[in-house]
Amino acid sequence: MKVSLYNTMSRTVEEFKPITEGFVGMYGCGPTVYNYAHIGNLRTYIFEDTLKRVLVHAGYKVKHVMNITDVGHLTGDGDDGEDKLEKSARESGRSVWDIAKFYTDAFFRDYDSLNIIRPDVVCPATQHIPQMIALIKRLEEGGHTYIAGGNVYFSIDTFPEYGRLARLNLDDLKSGARIDIDSNKKNPKDFVLWFTNSKFGEQAMMWDSPWGRGYPGWHIECSAMSMQYLGEHFDIHCGGIDAIPVHHTNEIAQSEAATGKTWVNYWMHGEFLLSEKGKMSKSSGEFLTMSVLKEHGYDPLDYRYFCLGAAYRTQLQFSWQGMDGAKAARQGLVDRIASLDEKVADMASLSGKARSYMDQFDAFVCNDLSTSRGLSVLWTMLKDDGLSDAEKRCAVNYMDKVLGLKLDGIKKKASDEGQDIPAEVMELVEKRAQAKKDKDWASADAYRKQIDEMGYLLKDTPAGPSLQKKM
Ligand code: AMP
Ligand code: ZN
Repeated sequence: MKVSLYNTMSRTVEEFKPITEGFVGMYGCGPTVYNYAHIGNLRTYIFEDTLKRVLVHAGYKVKHVMNITDVGHLTGDGDDGEDKLEKSARESGRSVWDIAKFYTDAFFRDYDSLNIIRPDVVCPATQHIPQMIALIKRLEEGGHTYIAGGNVYFSIDTFPEYGRLARLNLDDLKSGARIDIDSNKKNPKDFVLWFTNSKFGEQAMMWDSPWGRGYPGWHIECSAMSMQYLGEHFDIHCGGIDAIPVHHTNEIAQSEAATGKTWVNYWMHGEFLLSEKGKMSKSSGEFLTMSVLKEHGYDPLDYRYFCLGAAYRTQLQFSWQGMDGAKAARQGLVDRIASLDEKVADMASLSGKARSYMDQFDAFVCNDLSTSRGLSVLWTMLKDDGLSDAEKRCAVNYMDKVLGLKLDGIKKKASDEGQDIPAEVMELVEKRAQAKKDKDWASADAYRKQIDEMGYLLKDTPAGPSLQKKM
């Protein structure tokens, strides 16, 4: 199956060609574990999960590596500010190690609840310090570093390709350089590989290194760990769009300067989830977590559905109304599937019509992960009376491997059983029955209309009234 993906490096949708036949090495920047993940962060992990599922669906074996940033991520992207974990520890009176463990566990609870498949390798930065030191040494030997004020810096002037991913104009950068608070930097875009001169006083996490006791800069961890688990040249690197101008730009510089060759073939980025005030962000303190969504009565899979309904490369505006729509739509899917007989047809026995729905689905999701169109194919297929229940079940299972909405194996329900019919609706059904008994046809009709407006279809059958949720 052919897969096309938008490569941020070329700014075009390209046909995906793996380095090794049938295999994909994929790295995604993981969470900084100083606070709960917000639902914007989680949108990015849902996008990466979809990418992985599509590649597996297309027949590739995927090795997915994700780091956990538990040291070195400062509050400012330009090496300014304070280590986010140290700050969180200080403010909460807990140790940095406790903070990292607590929020890593919380992160994976959210991850699992969204039915995101766990990475094959999860690598915390603090457990890979020797690999980072080795990479910095290699850069030093190649003449790409300098030491100033006790810190080791990467010198971007030694890497002429600097800024290619973000299409930065280096001349503009120099002439318009903002005053950087770090006066040690020869070029304002140089960045720290190793801090020995902590500006934060009591730094709890420190390691010995050839340059003195200290701790790594943020960017070096992703280069060192991806190379450790995927080699010096691998297929796909992904993350959120905000990583392009600094984090990924610096990752490329240090990786390619060290090895002298291309590091990654495809760069993929998920767009932001927006709150009412713009980009949802942890630092602004105004963000929604999975727990808040659950408190409001949503299943995490409602949020997954909400995200799948939008293209990963477009910004997505969060709203409670949008969540209600996603919840109702997902429930509609579940109800429809629950109305089907449970037998699942064999792939080999499918009609041409059923196959063609699957092919349409594949064409959409393999075209830069168009899950919204994939979802509409699923809906159309389920509504098609020309397909048997068993064929529909087979197609649902096939498509759900990519969608990850847990649609596989939903039990059949009797038409009016277990639909969680609200008490108000049941009350109206009883009132209507009484009105009919009283031959008060006008009231009976009015009650039926109210039931209809509440989303339920009331049918009179020889066995009595039957109630069905409208699709
Ligand atoms: P962090 O835990 O802050 O390192 O971020 C984890 C991931 O979430 C990164 O890939 C970010 O680029 C991404 N991210 C941050 N804010 C948003 C947002 N509002 N919408 C989508 N992704 C985001
Ligand atoms: Zn990274």
